[in-house]
Amino acid sequence: MPDVPKQLFIGGSWVDAADGATMPVDNPATGEIICHVADAAPQDAQLAEDAAVQAQEDWARTSPRARSEILRRAYEIVLGRTEELAHLVTSEMGKPLAEARGEVAYAAEFFRWFSEEAVRIEGSYGTLPDGRIRMLLGRRPVGPSLLITPWNFPLAMGTRKIGPAVAAGCTMVLKPAPQTPLSSLALAAILKEAGLPDGVLNVVTTSRAGQVCEPLLRGGRIRKLSFTGSTAVGRLLIAQSAEGVVRTSMELGGNAPFIVFEDADLDVAVDGAMTAKMRNMGEACTAANRFFVHRSVTEKFAQRLAARMGALVVGPGTQDRVDVGPLIDVAGRAKVEELVADAVERGARVLIGGSTPKGPGCFYPPTVLTDVDPSSRLMDTEIFGPVAAILGFDDEDEVVHRANATTWGLVGYVFTEGLNRALRVSERLELGMVGLNTGLVSNPAAPFGGVKQSGLGREGGRVGIEEFLEYQYLAMPVR
Ligand code: NAP
Repeated sequence: MPDVPKQLFIGGSWVDAADGATMPVDNPATGEIICHVADAAPQDAQLAEDAAVQAQEDWARTSPRARSEILRRAYEIVLGRTEELAHLVTSEMGKPLAEARGEVAYAAEFFRWFSEEAVRIEGSYGTLPDGRIRMLLGRRPVGPSLLITPWNFPLAMGTRKIGPAVAAGCTMVLKPAPQTPLSSLALAAILKEAGLPDGVLNVVTTSRAGQVCEPLLRGGRIRKLSFTGSTAVGRLLIAQSAEGVVRTSMELGGNAPFIVFEDADLDVAVDGAMTAKMRNMGEACTAANRFFVHRSVTEKFAQRLAARMGALVVGPGTQDRVDVGPLIDVAGRAKVEELVADAVERGARVLIGGSTPKGPGCFYPPTVLTDVDPSSRLMDTEIFGPVAAILGFDDEDEVVHRANATTWGLVGYVFTEGLNRALRVSERLELGMVGLNTGLVSNPAAPFGGVKQSGLGREGGRVGIEEFLEYQYLAMPVR
């Protein structure tokens, strides 16, 4: 395992938790403990917040070019360490090395993208309609920000928040998921090497998320919360943010519909399904959760998908030729098992997979279920595992209605060769993002985010930096 710091990163220094506590980091492929990292207590988070608050004024005054160049250097360092970082991600999170390399490239790209955005923060100058007042409209950083990330893309979820915060001139306290703290600690070391001033980024790894974060959100000094994780936790954090009127960006859960019309190219649809379902072992907010396939092609699509899923090699992510790594932990796998058992009880047919292998590690096989009953729990629960649940449908109105019949609205996928139908259906779907004849939408240059209970705000794209910027309007009489 690559050598990364195991301490908290506060004010530019590596320090132990005040009470000396540590927490274990497991390898989900073996269940073995890889190492221990510092386990921050609330007083450590206060020190991290102090450092961020103290650094804010000077950091906001740095030139956009200086901030841009730090991000550019960090981009180059991350890419230059692709192998090392990929091994790190695989060892703490489980995804196969090939996917981990892909995540490193994706993560680095957020640094490059926001290094380019840092120098394009614009204001405006004009006269108000009555002709008596000049309006100078400027932008300023929102201020010290709390960033909370999940375990499923431990590098990329960090850079997707750190990139725009650095570009905008915000200081940060980053709290990564306890399953995957090492990637965030590695990022902190890289940013320090790239020249990020002390105190701008602080990282607190902790097993006590609630105790550590709530005082920060309620304390009045943190001005921004950027959270990626489940809708349940997001809702709680929005409530905690209300007291201090903290600005929030929320990237929450999904329940993606994957719609295949009768005129779809089935090769393209099956390829898209493999990506939308199997990227990250299905542990992605963008993972296709409900496959709606026109009844005239349901069986054909299901059989072809089962053949492709059945050919995947399951095993530890570090081994060559492995396509599917372990799930994150025992609890994550137990949830998948329960959802499959429930669907089967309600009449689903198992075409492939469906039973947990014996042995160490949190492995679950690629699984295809068809004839899934709409009342099955997995229709309204994020599966977060390699399970494709297929249902037939008869017409366009019906499928749009069923796709929208959920509280989530992150992403969906539509497969059809008809241009008008593709656009008509997409416009009717209550989703922040739609993949048209593709199973992949994520790209640092595009605005990522959802509607309904999938979130607030967007990450990436031209609008990503806006989440970390405020307006300031100066009024000046014309004289
Ligand atoms: P989670 O349980 O909501 O946890 C996410 C993060 O929030 C973790 O760091 C977690 O730390 C922390 N957290 C939990 N309770 C907290 C509290 N009371 N105060 C402060 N922090 C708290 O989600 P997860 O299981 O790690 O990740 C999977 C979820 O993330 C899925 O729903 C997925 O769809 C979503 N996700 C969304 C996107 C997107 O962009 N929309 C991207 C990736 C993932 P602890 O584990 O210590 O509680």
